[in-house]
Amino acid sequence: HSKVKYDSFRKSFYVEPAELADMTEAEVDELRLELDGIKIRGQDCPKPVQKWSQCGLPAQTLSVIRQLNYDKPTSIQAQAIPAIMSGRNVIGVAKTGSGKTIAFLLPMFRHIKDQRPLESQEGPISLIMTPTRELAVQIFKECKPFLKALNLRAVCAYGGSPIKDQIADLKRGAEIIVCTPGRMIDLLAANSGRVTNLKRVTYIVLDEADRMFDMGFEPQVMKIISNVRPDRQTVLFSATFPRNMEALARKVLQRPVEIVVGARSVVAPEVTQIVEVRADDAKFHRLLELLGELYDTDDDARTLIFVDRQESADSLLRDLMRRGYPCMSIHGGKDQIDRDSTISDFKNGVIPVLIATSVAARGLDVKQLKLVVNYDCPNHMEDYVHRVGRTGRAGNIGTAVTFITEEQDRYAVDIAKALRQSGQKVPEPVQKLVDGFNEKVKAGKEKASGSGFGGKGLEKLDQERDLAR
Ligand code: ADP
Ligand code: MG
Repeated sequence: HSKVKYDSFRKSFYVEPAELADMTEAEVDELRLELDGIKIRGQDCPKPVQKWSQCGLPAQTLSVIRQLNYDKPTSIQAQAIPAIMSGRNVIGVAKTGSGKTIAFLLPMFRHIKDQRPLESQEGPISLIMTPTRELAVQIFKECKPFLKALNLRAVCAYGGSPIKDQIADLKRGAEIIVCTPGRMIDLLAANSGRVTNLKRVTYIVLDEADRMFDMGFEPQVMKIISNVRPDRQTVLFSATFPRNMEALARKVLQRPVEIVVGARSVVAPEVTQIVEVRADDAKFHRLLELLGELYDTDDDARTLIFVDRQESADSLLRDLMRRGYPCMSIHGGKDQIDRDSTISDFKNGVIPVLIATSVAARGLDVKQLKLVVNYDCPNHMEDYVHRVGRTGRAGNIGTAVTFITEEQDRYAVDIAKALRQSGQKVPEPVQKLVDGFNEKVKAGKEKASGSGFGGKGLEKLDQERDLAR
């Protein structure tokens, strides 16, 4: 890059409107909470906007938004647009359907319009990468009404369709390319590099980054990005932000602002949560009952059983096998290849029952997963919500059964909280544990806020992540 002479360019266009400048920090916190619980990490993030008129967008863009009947920015848009318009590298995490596309498109148009027009032979200014053809087409379609109004051109490029059409499109010139990483690499190499190039790219979008990562596109993405000038603006959007994606994000985004919408999500209403107070020696019998009931009616169902430690996973595995349940286990003691093949057997239904520790089951997404059993009680709320959330995904229904022992009264506090927050009743025996624990705290026999308890779980995880950074 040091040998290439790049044009200078602008990425900061945002001026905070006066009505926002007057807001106090407390008011901003309140607003973020109202906007589906926006959470920020990273320094100097602008305040969220509430209206389109506060975004600093040109009149032509605003008029298209009006035609589309988009009344006001969605939560992710409200926070991501001012951040991107300020020139920041942004990681935006919000659930599917929350309007992430518009969040990166509108600032992108502003960014492109600020630059001198493309000359012949010049490649795109903006590069949008996405894992699948369907997503590329979807984003391309969302661009369309704006392209006309702003006099910009976009090309959609993905594998599985004739490359020569895409080459022809690119040769005519386009400020924007929406592509899958594999096809982008093919296009960059086509006709010994005369079809397109990355010299004018100053804005990169990685959309659905979690899926891109899951589908193994990281090497291609890295290869492309490393050929783009380092002072570019990069934004990454995703429905989830798994820990193993952070390394990639760190490599491609400098000093990012991380915006997470709905971070403190509660358990989905599709999950029926059952919490039972059980002594350790009564758990196994109850587990067999639960499995019996489930597999009597649904032999394609999958069950995920959580335990605390590696050794418990292995011993429960032996006991269940003896009872005729084909099962496997995943935990930190197994290598990644082993874990991957176990998860794939579980997904394919080769084994219906999987025993896991929390960490090993992060991000697990299996449609037929009907039953989660917390054989060992999770010790803080975030872990509970995460474990239980392995079922009831994408509109499917599921059940989560949690065993808690009399001695684990301190965990009951968080579990009761999770139940209440997701609108479910706290069963009486569990409430008794909570009350009992609170009595002990009052009497000075227990400390209320030991590490990881009393709703501190998420914050603790956040701290760990910040430290890892
Ligand atoms: P995501 O990428 O977060 O899954 P999309 O960007 O695909 O979500 O948006 C989902 C739908 O919401 C799209 O049909 C889009 O046109 C619409 N949409 C986006 N922003 C707004 C808005 N501010 N108001 C109303 N609808 C919107
Ligand atoms: Mg999307």
